Amino acid sequence: MLPEWWPWRSAAWRIGAVAGLLTVALGFLESYLFPSSAGLLGYSMVGLAVATGTFVVGRFFIQKPLDELRRALDQAADSDFLLRAATHHPNELSGLVSAANRLFARITDLQVQSIESRRELSLKAELANKASIIVEKNAALATRLREQSLLFDLLRTASTTLDLEDILRTICENASAALGYEEVAILLVDPQSQKLVVRAAHGFPPDAKIVGTTLTPGEGISGVVAESRQALVIPDTAKDTRYLHYKGKHLQDGSFLCCPIQTRDRLLGLFNVLRPGANGFADADIRLATSIASCAALAIANAQLHADVSALSMTDELTGLPNRRAFQQRIDEEIERADRGEDAFGVLMIDIDHFKRLNDTHGHAAGDDALRLVARRLRSSLRRLDHLARLGGEEFVAILPRQARISSTQIAEKLRAAVAATQLGVGSVTISIGVATFPDDGRTAETLLETADRALFAAKRAGRNRVSSSPERPHA
Ligand code: GH3
Ligand code: MG
Ligand code: MG
Repeated sequence: MLPEWWPWRSAAWRIGAVAGLLTVALGFLESYLFPSSAGLLGYSMVGLAVATGTFVVGRFFIQKPLDELRRALDQAADSDFLLRAATHHPNELSGLVSAANRLFARITDLQVQSIESRRELSLKAELANKASIIVEKNAALATRLREQSLLFDLLRTASTTLDLEDILRTICENASAALGYEEVAILLVDPQSQKLVVRAAHGFPPDAKIVGTTLTPGEGISGVVAESRQALVIPDTAKDTRYLHYKGKHLQDGSFLCCPIQTRDRLLGLFNVLRPGANGFADADIRLATSIASCAALAIANAQLHADVSALSMTDELTGLPNRRAFQQRIDEEIERADRGEDAFGVLMIDIDHFKRLNDTHGHAAGDDALRLVARRLRSSLRRLDHLARLGGEEFVAILPRQARISSTQIAEKLRAAVAATQLGVGSVTISIGVATFPDDGRTAETLLETADRALFAAKRAGRNRVSSSPERPHA
């Protein structure tokens, strides 16, 4: 490889040398043909001068622009298109240089355009990314809002509705709508048996009659959750033999979620959701169901407390029987029902005979015991659908639905005999009973009670320990 400075590497050098040699050769030829001419030295001098001149001209007009063009092309090869080759004199070479410069300028423009397009593309991608994040966040917010409004509705129900059946139905319906047509059920703990009873259901097929299904603690998934008091998810009920399909009443498989409904110290029930398909519950679903169960606990505890308080206000403390207020409510309902069906029913006014004497002889506590025992005996001698209340003191009243005068009088007689046969700690007591029947003796509570009271008075007058079905005709 020849070094950079080597004269023959340069085109100007070569052209200059060729021009000089040609001049010398021409000089030789000329001096050979015309011997009288300038001579060899002279031609050599002219040749040198022509070579030098040609070199200078070649260097200036050819070599320099070519060098610049080459430098610019070299730089372009390194992807730098900003350098421009200089064009000193207008000729073909400088035309070539200008064309190269225009090419560089065009490439630079294209580069700028490409950079801008790339930037635009990346901006667009960034924008699309941000838009998808916003859509995602909006969807999450909408879900959260739906959940919050569901919980708000449930809390409002808890604070405004006191009827337990209404509350359970509302929770099931609202939760089902919020979770997307799920099969939702609420089980409550029966205070007497401590069993779990399905009290409300929503979304199940009409033939799946699961309301009323009873489970004992430990039985099925619900029984397990009732014992552990921890929410449980069964990803696929087909693969878990503990799942009992509501005792075979709903054979659908899917994913099952069971949350305890509990206050701080008491399990009230369970909130169950069945979703078609396996693995149907995400963490968010479990969180929401747990929140629903907490709201349900509040509503149910509130309703139960209200029911307890109103039951207390309707109950006679000494005997546990319904009190006068409960009786008033019940007789009004009975009159309404009987009115609609033109049905008869009986009213018995019952009074313990000589009770003051018993109190005076054996003391007030013994009197209380006697009252409790008589109440128990009366209650156990009546049908479940009959109503027995303590009106006050040693007076009781019974309502006998669908019993006309004769059968009411027979039932009264049975009661009388049952009490008379009952051994108290202080011997025995007897009762007198006045009978009135709807509609023969009256169509209002007042007239019926008045008639029964008068019949009772007649029974007392006739000697006590007897039944009177009308003020005029007491039975012995
Ligand atoms: P009669 O056969 O005419 O009905 O006579 P009686 O003594 O049963 O009737 P009276 O109305 O004279 O007396 C009723 C008594 O019942 C008076 C009262 O001391 C008693 N008594 C009322 N309430 C209670 C109660 O809650 N506990 C007890 N131990 N006694 C009561
Ligand atoms: Mg009395
Ligand atoms: Mg009495």
